[in-house]
Amino acid sequence: MDKKIRNAVIAGNWKMNMTPSATKEFMKELAAKTKGKDACKIVLCVPAIDIPAAVESTKGTNITVGAENVHFEKSGAFTGEISSEMLCDAGAEYVIVGHSERRQYFAETDETVNLRAKAAIASGLMTIICVGENLHEREVGVTDDIIAKQTKIALSGIEKSDLSKIIIAYEPVWAIGTGKTATALQAEEVCKNIRDVVCALYDKDTAEKMSILYGGSMNDKNAAELLSMKDIDGGLIGGASLVADKFTAIIDAACNG
Ligand code: PEP
Repeated sequence: MDKKIRNAVIAGNWKMNMTPSATKEFMKELAAKTKGKDACKIVLCVPAIDIPAAVESTKGTNITVGAENVHFEKSGAFTGEISSEMLCDAGAEYVIVGHSERRQYFAETDETVNLRAKAAIASGLMTIICVGENLHEREVGVTDDIIAKQTKIALSGIEKSDLSKIIIAYEPVWAIGTGKTATALQAEEVCKNIRDVVCALYDKDTAEKMSILYGGSMNDKNAAELLSMKDIDGGLIGGASLVADKFTAIIDAACNG
């Protein structure tokens, strides 16, 4: 099926970078550089404290604001956590769940990623679920199994009617923040595998409509090749999303692809 039936999404992940003041400056610059570039959805997932500044300074632009994580409970004694209702009320429309840094440093599991995804979609947030193998898993040849397992658990109990709120990002752990990118063929192979898993869990039409992103050292130099692949519908971008010119170049590659 034609890739054009799916939404191209270029999403930034700022991680623990940028103050609210720097957010305002950045958004002003990015909005000017991306004006009229509507062929792909532009999203910036920012630290929770930056969300109000990001929302305020992107009003009337084609930039949408997201969060980097969400808790699965509605409210309660979970010091330091943020609920999906809080994110929505602050104006976030997207959220990342299951980023490998959350899994690695904050003990998140496939099961808590699934709970977070369910809480997010129940609030109407567009939810970017990250999956990815580590270097050892790639080297011993279990990438497909790991990705299939992560994808299946992340989607467990999610109704087909809610799949339009889900985006899956394939992010090989060995490529995140390392400057090592998966080759376009490696990334395509895994994104195709994810689509096949979604097809087996739901159906072909649902799988064909799902946007699947690649993330892992995507930059202004390698974006066009990665984004030209049949099953790669966009990118989740860390480092390069902190530099307006580099992020804009990736947006251009997605819009022109
Ligand atoms: C990320 O944080 O999701 C990411 C892909 O980071 P980077 O682009 O810096 O590798």
